[in-house]
Amino acid sequence: MKQSKLFLPTLREVPAEAEIASHQLMVRAGLMRQLVSGVYTYLPLGLRVLRKVQEIVREEMDRAGAQEISMPAIQPAELWQETGRWDAYGPELMRLKDRHHRDFVLGPTHEEVVTSLVRDNLNTYKKLPINLYQIQTKYRDEVRPRFGVIRSREFIMKDAYSFDVSREGLDKSYQSMYDAYTRIFTRAGLTFRAVEADAGAIGGKGTHEFMALSEIGEDTIAYCTSCDYAANLEKAEVVYKPVAERTVTEAPMEKVPTPGVKTIEQLMNHFNMEARQFIKALVFKADDRFVVALVRGDHELNDVKLKNLVDANVLAMATEEEMKKLGIPLGFVGPFHLPEGVEVYADLAVQDMGSAVAGANEKDYHYTHVVPGRDFTVQAYADLRNIVEGDECSRCGGHIAFARGIEVGHVFKLGTRYSEKMGAKFLDENGKEQPMIMGCYGIGISRMVAACVEQNHDENGIIWPWSLAPYHIHVVPVNVKNEEQKQLAESIYEMLGRAGYEVLLDDRPERAGVKFKDADLIGLPIRVTVGGKASEGIVECKVRKTGESQDVHVDELLAHIQ
Ligand code: ATP
Ligand code: MG
Ligand code: MG
Ligand code: MG
Repeated sequence: MKQSKLFLPTLREVPAEAEIASHQLMVRAGLMRQLVSGVYTYLPLGLRVLRKVQEIVREEMDRAGAQEISMPAIQPAELWQETGRWDAYGPELMRLKDRHHRDFVLGPTHEEVVTSLVRDNLNTYKKLPINLYQIQTKYRDEVRPRFGVIRSREFIMKDAYSFDVSREGLDKSYQSMYDAYTRIFTRAGLTFRAVEADAGAIGGKGTHEFMALSEIGEDTIAYCTSCDYAANLEKAEVVYKPVAERTVTEAPMEKVPTPGVKTIEQLMNHFNMEARQFIKALVFKADDRFVVALVRGDHELNDVKLKNLVDANVLAMATEEEMKKLGIPLGFVGPFHLPEGVEVYADLAVQDMGSAVAGANEKDYHYTHVVPGRDFTVQAYADLRNIVEGDECSRCGGHIAFARGIEVGHVFKLGTRYSEKMGAKFLDENGKEQPMIMGCYGIGISRMVAACVEQNHDENGIIWPWSLAPYHIHVVPVNVKNEEQKQLAESIYEMLGRAGYEVLLDDRPERAGVKFKDADLIGLPIRVTVGGKASEGIVECKVRKTGESQDVHVDELLAHIQ
């Protein structure tokens, strides 16, 4: 490709809205432009990188036996009502109406669509297992779109869904996706770690997140420095220490008016808090005892059973038996109707296990900067699991350390959660109907590109790994008005192209300084500079990553690059 023809608007200035390096560089290097908050156009260079990621993902998914399909972004509300997610998904779900006032959603994920597809077209064990995947645009109305395409509202995801006849089958499908993900992220040159994640209502060891390690990551990973244990902080198991022994924020508790706030959802909306990374709780007072029902992480509040919460080290002053006696439903936590005689004492949202918001037990008021244990004496609060670095690993007694990560992939054993609700059944060998056993597996394709830039850049620009680079080699004639340089650069461009490399030729009549700055910014793995020694057939070959450069004769160039 000749750069004089390429739509590649680079910027010297750092765009004001971009807080992190990858966002700044993806805009400055002309990979993308924002259309509106959290929505981006990919320019030619950006699109090439996206395609590289997609090709790796396709190859590995196909190799793992998954089959590619393409499902619509527009989905009818009825499917979401079948699974209860029409209500449970909340404001992140982009909803729209057609001209007949029928409700639709712009798909944030495709469990409903794929389950209905399989339900209607496959009903015998003979056709199972099957794994269907797509690479497609997803929509989520994130509370806080930020970091460019790391958290955008329109983004590209690879999502796969497996259907099995047994739990053992699901285990195999899951493992095969886990292995494929490991190959994908390795090939993409990411430094990553697979961590146990919080399975919420499903429980068990049924989910892992793949985290690209990075300081700007929004997730905290707790890992053991002695054994190979690693988990999302929300899920991490350590040897328990009470809150009182830990340090927490010193900001004083403050009473603030919160008119009309009655549920956790309203509370979080009121303080413009993001659902993820929070502990959410409702506190009931019943018979002079407090009950705290609590959920961690990004699970749908309505969908998490209290029993699972209690299992997942949630706090409750009362046992399940006691709660039954009190008549507190073991079904849903969240805005549900409490039985007669049970009053809501407080609601609570805790961010990063430090500062919290809690009901002031007074109509239309809340406390902010609450420190559980310091400001509230209710025993249940003191049980909040507040893990800190240096805690003891519950597996081996080693030390827990923290790292930050960007969630680039997620594998999840769904079980029969969707197939039961939607009636996706198959006939087993004995002619008996059984619900299909499902798994789902996502990769943030566009987020991966940003994670790659975040991990591979310096003060001058991007440093593409070979596998994702938009082009492999940048051929830069220092002065295109010099006929010798121009000719040599063109013949090198042709030669490298014939040898199978993807080459960008900077044939623009720009000053050398401008060209070099752009070349570093764009960050192709190899730069071949054609300058003063062109008449002798000598060019400079420079490796972007190490900065190493060497004069090479054109006749040796191919051998040198290999
Ligand atoms: P997060 O915790 O970052 O909000 P998630 O757990 O909600 O992500 P999943 O539902 O697991 O996301 O979706 C699968 C993958 O899609 C994620 O692992 C991530 O790589 C990607 N992804 C999710 N939300 C976004 C987004 N808003 N922008 C870009 N990529 C995203
Ligand atoms: Mg999310
Ligand atoms: Mg997540
Ligand atoms: Mg996830």
